[in-house]
Amino acid sequence: MKKNLKIYLASPRGFCAGVKRAIDIVEKSINKYGKPVYVRHEIVHNKQVVEELKKKGAIFVEELSDIKDNTRPVIFSAHGVPKSVPEEAKQKKLSFVDATCPLVSKVHRESEQLHKRGYDIILIGHNKHPEVIGTMGQLPKGSIKLIETVNDVSLLDIKQFSKPVAYITQTTLSVDDTAEIIKKLEEKFPDIKQPIKEDICYATTNRQLAVKKIAPKCDMFFVIGSRNSSNSVRLVEVAKKAGCKNSMLMYFEKKIPTVDLGKSEIIGISSGASAPEELVQDLINKVKVDRTVSIEEVVVAEEKVVFKLPKELN
Ligand code: SF4
Repeated sequence: MKKNLKIYLASPRGFCAGVKRAIDIVEKSINKYGKPVYVRHEIVHNKQVVEELKKKGAIFVEELSDIKDNTRPVIFSAHGVPKSVPEEAKQKKLSFVDATCPLVSKVHRESEQLHKRGYDIILIGHNKHPEVIGTMGQLPKGSIKLIETVNDVSLLDIKQFSKPVAYITQTTLSVDDTAEIIKKLEEKFPDIKQPIKEDICYATTNRQLAVKKIAPKCDMFFVIGSRNSSNSVRLVEVAKKAGCKNSMLMYFEKKIPTVDLGKSEIIGISSGASAPEELVQDLINKVKVDRTVSIEEVVVAEEKVVFKLPKELN
């Protein structure tokens, strides 16, 4: 007889409005302009999504210089791009569609406004992440100072800041870790200007809240998502911090750890903002082969956010 297994399913999980819009933009561009369309960088950080779009006629490149046929349109990924990228596209006479998530664009506009108003800008984010590269590339080199940790705040030299100071953040950070960094920043710069509206996006916040609620009750916690997906990796950290030490990222090549799973009575499952729901259902179906499963969905928020498509695709 199969052993019972309780599964807490986090909600919200999976695709956010920015990811849905970006995938839609690629599909609608293929319908409108025909095959192939180029996509600069993975449109969203998920291997399955990228493979599906390749089958439909997308060609993924890392730089515009990798494009072999300049008569075809190119789409910029949801993470956003530095200003130099659309400029380069214009020089090359490439037609382009920008799939940057509107919530990332909001941070871009924020940084421009702050710069115009004479602020020194500190960005809290992960070095080399495409979103961070895109945000830093909205302003001339050296205008934004990147920090990643509380320790980085201690290392900031106040003397290097001659103007009023403001901070902005990457959209997919850990809410709790970022709060600690901000606290340190506020101690160091008591007048520091904060964003008018939180930069960490609603989808990141909600997914972390759901994981935090479930993880303390679980023997194991699975987050479906890619290794380069910032918000998925953060969900694993959140689950561990919330008390489920045996939490892991279920990326494309990762096998189910059957020995540990066999000893578990309660598990939690969530998925990053770029992971399709089919992958969650696949995991549940695989688990069901050996266990009698009961599923409880734990809903912490209802998400009704929908972003408009760029006008050229409407
Ligand atoms: S995670 Fe947030 S910022 Fe990133 S695409 Fe989704 S909604 Fe936009």
